[in-house]
Amino acid sequence: MTSEEDALAAILARSAPLPNEKTRLLDSLGRFVTHDLFATRPLPAFDNSAMDGYAVQAKTSRAGTSLRVIGEQPAGCDRGLTMAEGEAVRIFTGAPIPAGADAVIMQEDVTREGDAITARCDVEPGEFIRRRGADLAAGQKILGRGEPITPQILALLASQGLVEIEIGRRPQVAIVSTGDELARPSIDPQPGQIYESNAIMLEALALRAGSMVRLVEHSPDDLERMKKIFLRALESDVLIVSGGVSVGEHDLVKPALRALGAEIDLWRVAIKPGKPFLFGRASDCLIFGLPGNPVSAFVTFLRFVRPALLKMSGASEENLSLREVPARIGSEIVNEGERPHYLRGRMADELFIPTGRQESHALFGLSRANALLRVAPETRLPAGASVRVSLLD
Ligand code: AMP
Ligand code: MG
Repeated sequence: MTSEEDALAAILARSAPLPNEKTRLLDSLGRFVTHDLFATRPLPAFDNSAMDGYAVQAKTSRAGTSLRVIGEQPAGCDRGLTMAEGEAVRIFTGAPIPAGADAVIMQEDVTREGDAITARCDVEPGEFIRRRGADLAAGQKILGRGEPITPQILALLASQGLVEIEIGRRPQVAIVSTGDELARPSIDPQPGQIYESNAIMLEALALRAGSMVRLVEHSPDDLERMKKIFLRALESDVLIVSGGVSVGEHDLVKPALRALGAEIDLWRVAIKPGKPFLFGRASDCLIFGLPGNPVSAFVTFLRFVRPALLKMSGASEENLSLREVPARIGSEIVNEGERPHYLRGRMADELFIPTGRQESHALFGLSRANALLRVAPETRLPAGASVRVSLLD
């Protein structure tokens, strides 16, 4: 049995970033840039006013002194005005600062009569001026390779005049659920059958990890039919199979993959739930065989498939894991086993509370969870212990 860490390392070693593509800025949301980006324009782009008011010279603009307004500088153009001592220019937020001015006085702080203003307070040099480059200098790094693009990053990119960006291609994913006992949700199950529910969960998880799902199919536990479906599915970048990777006679995923020439790199990993997890390859397609129990499929997807999909999409190392936050546990948690146990639970006010039965088939408890807690093997955590949990949303 492979350790969790070795399994992940082996999977990531085989998950190469896919070729880049250029997209419209908005289409890059949530995806990963493939190279460092540097500012071509400083921010602010020029010295400008932070207020509606009057551009002045601080040393002559004292409380009670009167200044002559020699012109007006609106935002959106540069009238090239120059002002001297004792003068002021009417100015608006975002407008370029006229030559000779070194401060702006708010309109609320002056009285105006005709062409004259009288300041009601003193002004400091630099007051209400937004200096060129004070926020961002030209040449400064604005985005690192492998960082995810957020709405606020899109705003910064737009401020640089960009309309397109080079990002990693999305992996194309195929999902195949297996099992004779599974009925499609639209068909009444026969006695002894249950509804198939993993495919939609895996599809949603893959979409949320930024992948494209190009095929979702169900295979009965029949070698020939499974091979046929796999053959088409293997034309993707990634094949995710649910069920059929255990040790029973009806677990045909491994023989079907082998018959198609796939290499199996890993089978059985020290993780609970999820021990029968399988990883392999067939030409350029990475293959993940997830145990069929819904919680096992969920946990192994997040632990092994998600990081691989993200790396293929161009994510850097530090962007491969779920976000971790500190938490406390409400009551004692014990893992007497030899495998790390991923508990499903809910975070509320920094307290992690396991949700429902912690068994690999217990779908309701999983559905209520918003966090995962990894409990190391042979570990007893007393009530109130500080832990770190991974957030699911
Ligand atoms: P397996 O990994 O194929 O041995 O399946 C383990 C358990 O998970 C069995 O109880 C299956 O009925 C259940 N199971 C397998 N695949 C699915 C699925 N796609 N949806 C819901 N339950 C499943
Ligand atoms: Mg099965």
